[in-house]
Amino acid sequence: MTQRKITIAIDGFSSSGKSTLARDLAEALNYTYLDSGAMYRAVTLYCINHHIDVNDATQVEAALPHINLHIPPALSKTFAIHLNDRDVTDLIRSMEVSAVVSEIAAISAVRAFLVAQQQAAGKYGGIVMDGRDIGTVVFPNAELKIFVESDIETRIDRRHQELIKKGNTTSRLEVKQNLLHRDNIDSTREDSPLLKAKDAHTINNTNLTRAQQLQAAIDLVESVT
Ligand code: C5P
Repeated sequence: MTQRKITIAIDGFSSSGKSTLARDLAEALNYTYLDSGAMYRAVTLYCINHHIDVNDATQVEAALPHINLHIPPALSKTFAIHLNDRDVTDLIRSMEVSAVVSEIAAISAVRAFLVAQQQAAGKYGGIVMDGRDIGTVVFPNAELKIFVESDIETRIDRRHQELIKKGNTTSRLEVKQNLLHRDNIDSTREDSPLLKAKDAHTINNTNLTRAQQLQAAIDLVESVT
């Protein structure tokens, strides 16, 4: 494989498998991995902890100067996120955060605050970033854009199993309702709705193994480098 380090943007709906692909790809290429959703989740956690109304954009915007996010430079396997010097990597995965993160992510001031940090992190290439607007807004000039798709039942099962493994007792129905709720807000919000970039390649992983999904992405990397 060539040495040229490119920018890879991976977008898709919640629990479509895009983070798994992004992480696997970053590891295979020895690139940095950045989970942009973790940043929206960390802002959400701050708001919950400080009793800020997530539907009040003015209150949320006023909180932003007090939010310091730090992603320790590391390769894919050790992705972590710190919120005001506290490691919140696991805390941001709770259903409490999932329940309102899309409301927070629909606020333009939040998006501007995080997009600037995401662009700074990817300034030198050699990065795989996953999210909802990476190929459309964060890195519109990324050399490779991938849009990950998976059917809804598969997405629900994956997310449910992930929560069960962590000892969470959330029901499958709750997981389904949360995914549909986030899909709806993420794809209909005014600022940076989830869209497949015109020049993105689709990988539908419903019937692919993790290894097959990774190989499909590596084939795409080889086609552009
Ligand atoms: O990727 P994950 O499901 O953890 O993201 C959580 C939420 O953050 C999404 O449902 C979406 O509302 C928001 N998000 C976003 N733009 C991104 C990444 C995540 O709006 N680039």
